[in-house]
Amino acid sequence: MKKEKKLLSLIVPCFNEEEALPLFYKEVTKTLKESKADYELLLVNDGSKDQTLSVMKDLAKKDRHVIYLSFSRNFGKEAAMYAGLCNARGDYVGFIDADLQHPPVLILRMLEALESGEYDCAACRRTDRTGDSKIRTWFSRRFYEIINRISDARMVDGAGDYRLMSRKMADAIISMSEHNRFSKGIFSWVGYKTCWIEYENVDRVAGTTSWSFWGLVKYAIDGIVNFSNFPLDVATFLGIFTTFLAFLYLAFIIIKYLLYGDAVQGWATLICVILFMGGIQLLCLGIIGQYIGKIYMETKNRPHFIISETNKDSAELIG
Ligand code: UDP
Ligand code: MG
Repeated sequence: MKKEKKLLSLIVPCFNEEEALPLFYKEVTKTLKESKADYELLLVNDGSKDQTLSVMKDLAKKDRHVIYLSFSRNFGKEAAMYAGLCNARGDYVGFIDADLQHPPVLILRMLEALESGEYDCAACRRTDRTGDSKIRTWFSRRFYEIINRISDARMVDGAGDYRLMSRKMADAIISMSEHNRFSKGIFSWVGYKTCWIEYENVDRVAGTTSWSFWGLVKYAIDGIVNFSNFPLDVATFLGIFTTFLAFLYLAFIIIKYLLYGDAVQGWATLICVILFMGGIQLLCLGIIGQYIGKIYMETKNRPHFIISETNKDSAELIG
């Protein structure tokens, strides 16, 4: 008996990709036509300021595989990925960037891995960081070292969002409806057996990256706060340690008083101690603040995205 064709939903978050999108569409369609699966291309317009939406509409007009979901504003890549997930109908669901930094041909290898039935996820991992500056590479490496040491979710250096997964895994990810989304961590947290496919890094085909250095630093802090309580442990440890030091110093002062009597001294020491304590207190407050900020956003329970325009019937417009 002939096996039924599986449906692959490929989610493409797009932010100001008017130049890259037509090139991407051509490449990815060529590859998808070669695959055995039926497919839908879910193009998510994340509040682009350029003509990305009209490019999407043109593509949808001439190709029934293209579904576009257009946000009411820029909600960020994580929200775009989540919106795609909520609206994907496929037996397999995947993510790919619109700038051709994720070589579409790898989809065939990922599909093969999923079809074998051995894996629930096939993910691509870039083996180098060509195009990234030395400083950025250094910081990225340190980030992975730290996060893997302090969090339960193992994150693989070089692994981005380029991956395909089974319906089962996609549903598990949809069920994680947390507001502060950090996909690298979420993919690893849900578990499932993953087949890793390596590739060499490629530069963007057009446009510019939307990541600034500080944007990445904030993203890294987000990742740590979202997947680990380690900074809170550090705050606790600092508290215990400085209290211990204070006791030692107190003992020193008492003994000194008993031996030499009271002489007013130690102005410099006093200032140092006040500054040191003040610094540590502010640092710990900041750490606690990071977590409270997350709790605050989480309790508001706002939707992750709002779709203002789409060609999909019965789309999940707010989610
Ligand atoms: N992107 C998005 N919303 C944003 C920023 C980026 O949907 O707010 C999309 C972007 O169009 C691209 C993908 O996310 O398809 C990766 O973005 P980018 O190439 O800027 O990041 P990098 O590859 O440098 O990590
Ligand atoms: Mg890119």
